Amino acid sequence: MLLIDEIKLKEHESEDKLKTKLLKKLHLKEKDLISYKVDKCAIDARDEILYVYRLKIEVIDEDRFYGLPYVRRYERYKDIKKIKSTIRPIIIGDGPSGLFAAVTLVDAGLKPIIFEKGQDVDGRQITVRKFFKEAILDPSCNVQFGEGGAGTFSDAKLTTRIKDPYIEYIIDKFIAYGADPKIAIASHPHIGTDKIIDVIRNMREDLISKGAQFHFSEEVKDFIVKQDAIKGVITDKDTYYSDIVILAIGHSAIDTFKALIKHGIYLEAKEFAVGFRVEHPQTLIDHNQYHGHKLKEPAEYFLRHRSQDERGVYSFCMCPGGFVIPSSAKEKTICTNGMSYSKRDNHLANSAILCQIKMSDLDDDLMSGYHYIEDLEKRAYAISGSYRALAQNIKDYIYGGSHDLIFEPSYFLGTTLYELDHFFDEKLNKAFKEALLAFDKKIEGFIDKGIMIAPETRSSSPFRVKRDARHQSISHLGLYPIGEGAGYAGGIMSSSLDGVKCALDIIEDLS
Ligand SMILES: Cc1cc2nc3c(=O)[nH]c(=O)nc-3n(C[C@H](O)[C@H](O)[C@H](O)COP(=O)(O)OP(=O)(O)OC[C@H]3O[C@@H](n4cnc5c(N)ncnc54)[C@H](O)[C@@H]3O)c2cc1C
Repeated sequence: MLLIDEIKLKEHESEDKLKTKLLKKLHLKEKDLISYKVDKCAIDARDEILYVYRLKIEVIDEDRFYGLPYVRRYERYKDIKKIKSTIRPIIIGDGPSGLFAAVTLVDAGLKPIIFEKGQDVDGRQITVRKFFKEAILDPSCNVQFGEGGAGTFSDAKLTTRIKDPYIEYIIDKFIAYGADPKIAIASHPHIGTDKIIDVIRNMREDLISKGAQFHFSEEVKDFIVKQDAIKGVITDKDTYYSDIVILAIGHSAIDTFKALIKHGIYLEAKEFAVGFRVEHPQTLIDHNQYHGHKLKEPAEYFLRHRSQDERGVYSFCMCPGGFVIPSSAKEKTICTNGMSYSKRDNHLANSAILCQIKMSDLDDDLMSGYHYIEDLEKRAYAISGSYRALAQNIKDYIYGGSHDLIFEPSYFLGTTLYELDHFFDEKLNKAFKEALLAFDKKIEGFIDKGIMIAPETRSSSPFRVKRDARHQSISHLGLYPIGEGAGYAGGIMSSSLDGVKCALDIIEDLS
């Protein structure tokens, strides 16, 4: 089977034309085409509106097409091998990485036990809404902690730059558990917070029916370690033994990181990024990205800039038609993030603008990065005196001034007007201002029509729990650090894939 890129349809052309265009592009006779179907579809609105397709095709004599620039071999993931083993792997954390490790292990016939410090999605929704409405935070269950992990109150974008056959496995699972089948062909698939919650609940119910065990509101507090091998975990309720412990804790469970450090489990500090959210009228983004054309889907953007002092500054987790949300996990701290519903129909667009924090910005101490992050969050709360995030017009940040915000931000808990020049340090201010001026050249009005909401601090882990090529800790046998917290993934899709890949290694080792 082959993948053929760059088959283009004009706005008024129907998909019936795809076959004719395909045959023409490949100089192929109809009798030599066995089958074709849409694999991906993207919109190109740079000039006229074009729908750009990737097709999956079966032809007689595939070999003669190899080497053409728009042709690739299609590789499907291998079905998960069934194995016979009585071992019950423990998974700490029910975010995308832990959940997809569980899905894969269950497909192999294993019965993992999953511990999640937060509540299940139904209880969690009530708890999170309480924070959004009344600013009452539960440090164990919030936007970052609870069933589904950090991406549950999100846009649930499933984009990644990683190319791997098991991405299709993950998409197939999302669809099987209730996501819109369109995510299979969308070039930038997203599920939306309203839909992902149902998908996660369906997943859990199915996994339980196949023997998996979920323990919600149960936090792993410590590890049972014997001669540099993990033998189980101690939670706030009981002790559980297993020779396989998958660590899928995300990047913010600081007490769990401290427990790892206490046992001498090998961790190192790594670079991360911090910044703020920007928010703009969605119409401004549409107008710029679609060049005045009218399209049903709200437009996205991805912007990046290399500052004069060699720092990457980039937009991240852009949420078209979305909301900037409070995502604190600790009391008296402020941290923002973004979320959209499946329809992406809010009138505002938001995105994080993040700047790389280099190792040279930090002390040698392993905890230095974590303290840097927490310091920003605590200072923001101290300035605001509440969970109201700090906000300023981008124009005022660049050119000076402190005028009323040009529009009401979507942030549920309100904002405190503050000159963000006084919040970030000089290096960051310089890099951000350079980048914003560059972004304004790409999206006209980015500075004049936008506001900043700060800080955004939890986009990546300041730690890496070092592991070998088979996902096992380099210091402790039986411990498998995965996902964003372990420092090996960033985002829902890459974290889910990390979970799948780790589980595949475990399945291989047990078979
Ligand atoms: C508001 C928001 C919106 C986002 N939007 C997107 C998006 O649209 N697209 C995208 O790709 N990415 C998005 N992200 C990032 C994405 O959610 C993360 O990259 C992803 O969730 C990481 O997955 P993970 O499994 O590694 O960790 P997490 O999702 O962080 O899950 C870790 C889980 O472990 C639990 N845990 C931690 N320690 C313990 C312990 N000791 N005992 C028991 N349980 C424990 C936590 O409670 C948590 O539920 C968003 C993040 C946020 C916060």
